[in-house]
This record gives sequence, C-alpha cells and structure tokens, in this order.
Amino acid sequence: MCVFCKIVSGEIPAYKVYEDDEFLAFLDIGPVNKGHLLVIPRKHYPTLLDMPEDEAGKLYKLVHRLAKAVKSALSADGLNIINNVGEASGQEVFHVHVHIIPRFYDDGMKFGWRKLQYSEGEMEEYAGKIKEAL
Ligand code: AMP
Ligand code: ZN
Repeated sequence: MCVFCKIVSGEIPAYKVYEDDEFLAFLDIGPVNKGHLLVIPRKHYPTLLDMPEDEAGKLYKLVHRLAKAVKSALSADGLNIINNVGEASGQEVFHVHVHIIPRFYDDGMKFGWRKLQYSEGEMEEYAGKIKEAL
C-alpha cells in the first residue's frame, strides 16, 4: 500500500484539514512554506492522468476552495498550485496529489523557471502537435 493510501486508511497519521467521501487534504510533512497542503483522492491513482476526467475536475474544484482557505488563513501573498506527473517531473509519491503552497514576498523561495526560445516555425509545430492529440 502506498504512503498516501496509508494516510487514507488511517494506518499512518496526518494533520488533516479536510475530508469527504472522495478526497482528503492534509499538511505536507516537508513544507516549502508552513501550511503547504496536499490534496488527494481517497482512491489510488498513480498520477493525475490515470484519473477519469470528471474525478480530476472534482479534485481541482476542491483545490480551488482549499487554495482560497490557505491564502486567507495564512495571509499569503500568493500560492503555487502544482501537480507533478511522473518521475521526470519530480514526482516522488505515486498517488496523485496537488500541492497548495502558500507564498510570501520575503520567503526566499525561487522556483526559477527557465525561459527557452523557439526557433522559426517551432511555435506552429508545437501548438499543432498538441492540438492534434486532443
Ligand atoms: P511529489 O514530489 O509531488 O511526489 O511530492 C510528494 C510530497 O509528499 C513531498 O512534498 C513530501 O514532503 C510529501 N510527503 C511524503 N510523505 C508524506 C507524509 N507521510 N505525510 C505528508 N506528506 C508527505
Ligand atoms: Zn495510494
């Protein structure tokens, strides 16, 4: 059983802030900032892409609600709402979860996206590939 399934079953403890029949939200044990939440479905799916679309929709509806609560409760200046899909993205726990991370102007944390440049014709090519896969 995966670590988050163990939290769902109560086998290991977590500081839960929300639960219903389908979902659970609890504090991340190694927070980027204090109050960093994880939102998960009770049912085990390895990644977001393994969930049926309607369940993923419900998950993100709940993320929207919890994100507002985190921001107001902690007077956060902003949030990062992140879901990692697959090892290559940095996913470590293979039970789908959405991170809600409170952010503050002075928190010293930088996600630091790089910004590549497209060469001539590449934007059309990339947009086209993705559109074809829909
Ligand atoms: P990810 O890299 O997206 O798979 O993130 C996994 C997250 O799960 C990390 O931020 C961990 O700190 C967190 N985590 C792992 N085990 C536990 C646990 N037992 N309780 C709470 N959070 C956990
Ligand atoms: Zn699981």
